[in-house]
Amino acid sequence: MMMRDEERLKKLVLEEVDRLLPRLIELSDWIGMHPELGSEEYEASKRLSEELERHGFKVERGILNMPTAFRASYSGVGPTPKIAFMAEYDALPEIGHGCGHNIIGAAAIGAGIALRRVLDEVAGTVFVYGTPAEEGRGPSAGAKRRMAEAGLFDDLDVAMMIHPTSGITRVNEGFLAVTGITVEFKGRAAHAAAFPHLGVNALNAAVLMYMAVHANRQQLRRDANAVIHGIIREGGAASNIIPDRAVLQFGVRSSDDSYIPELVKMMKNCARGAAIATGCEVHIDVRPGLRSNVRNEPLERLLYRILSELGEEVEPPELTARRIPMASTDFSDVTHVVPAIHPMISIAPEGVALHTREFAEATMTERGHRAIEIGAKAMALAALELILDPRLLEEVKEAHRRAISESS
Ligand SMILES: [Zn+2]
Ligand SMILES: [Zn+2]
Repeated sequence: MMMRDEERLKKLVLEEVDRLLPRLIELSDWIGMHPELGSEEYEASKRLSEELERHGFKVERGILNMPTAFRASYSGVGPTPKIAFMAEYDALPEIGHGCGHNIIGAAAIGAGIALRRVLDEVAGTVFVYGTPAEEGRGPSAGAKRRMAEAGLFDDLDVAMMIHPTSGITRVNEGFLAVTGITVEFKGRAAHAAAFPHLGVNALNAAVLMYMAVHANRQQLRRDANAVIHGIIREGGAASNIIPDRAVLQFGVRSSDDSYIPELVKMMKNCARGAAIATGCEVHIDVRPGLRSNVRNEPLERLLYRILSELGEEVEPPELTARRIPMASTDFSDVTHVVPAIHPMISIAPEGVALHTREFAEATMTERGHRAIEIGAKAMALAALELILDPRLLEEVKEAHRRAISESS
C-alpha cells in the first residue's frame, strides 16, 4: 500500500473520532453522573451497545449469562486480523466512578466506531467487548477472566483498553495476581459472664488468625511484591454474648502467579491453627483469582509513539517497567491468551488517588474528556497500523508467544 493511502486512512480514523467526540463525552458524563454498581450496569451497557448498533455493529447482549456484558463486531472486506477493544462501565459503592470506567467505556466504543470507518477498504474485524463488574462485585465479577476461559478471545490478534490515571500517562502497567479468601469461624454462643465455660469464642479465633497472618509477613518473598490485606467483617453481636460466628475477608496478591498458591496455603494454616487453638470450626472459601499481566514490548513501543504523536506526554515504557506493580485487573487474564495492552491515560495531577470522589469528578473535566479523545484515537490508530503492517503484527504475536513460553 502506498504511503499516501496509509496517511489518508489514518486521517479518516482521526476525523471519525473528532466527529464522534461530543457524543462520546455525553455518554461518559451521563454514565459518570448515573453510576451503576458491578453486575447491575444495565443503563451503561445499553447506551454503549446501542451506540455501536447505530454505527452498523452486530451486537450480542448477555453473553456467557452475564446480563450486562456484550460483544459487538463489524467485519469489512475481509475477516482478519481481529482486533478487540474492551469497555468497562461499573462504578464503586458510595464514590461512583472513582475508577473512571465511564471514560473506558466511551473510549472503547469510540475506537471501535473509528476503526469501523476504514474496514470497508481494508480487511479486518473489530470487536468491542462490554466487560462488566471489573471491581469484582456481583455474579459477573471477573467477566474478562470468564470470557478468556470460555475461549472468546482465542482467535483475536490483539486486544486493547485504556484506563484513566493520575500523574504521567503510561503505555502499560504491571498488575498483580490476586485471590480473595473468606474465612468463617463457628463457635458456640453463651452468656459472656454467667456461662462463659459453655461458650466457644469465634471472635478469638478470628483475632488469632489475623495476628497469625501478621506473624508471617516478614517472611514473605520480597521479590514477589506480595500484599495481604484483610478485615474482620463479623465479630459478634453484643459484648455480653460469646460470639458464635466471626468472618474475615482477605485479598492475597503477588506479581508472581506461582507464589499465590503458597500464600493461600499459609493463610489456610493460619485459619486452621486458630480454629484448633479455640475449639472452633472453620470454613475457608478461596475464590478463583486473577493473574498478573503479560507485557508486550512491540505493542508498548507502538502505543508510546502514537500517544506521543497525539501530543500526550508519556513515560518511556522502560521506566514504567521499573515501577512496582500495585493493583490488579481482570484484563491481565486477557494478556495470557492474546497480545494485549492497557495504557493508563492521565486525567489528574500526581497524588490524586484512584477510587476517590475527587477522581470521579476528574473524569468529567476537560482533561477527562481529552483522555476519551486520546484513548480512542490511540487505540484506533494502533489497530490500523497493525492491520496495514503484517510484519509489525507478526512481531507483536511473536513477542507474545515468547513471553508465554518463558512464563510457563
Ligand atoms: Zn478500580
Ligand atoms: Zn478501574
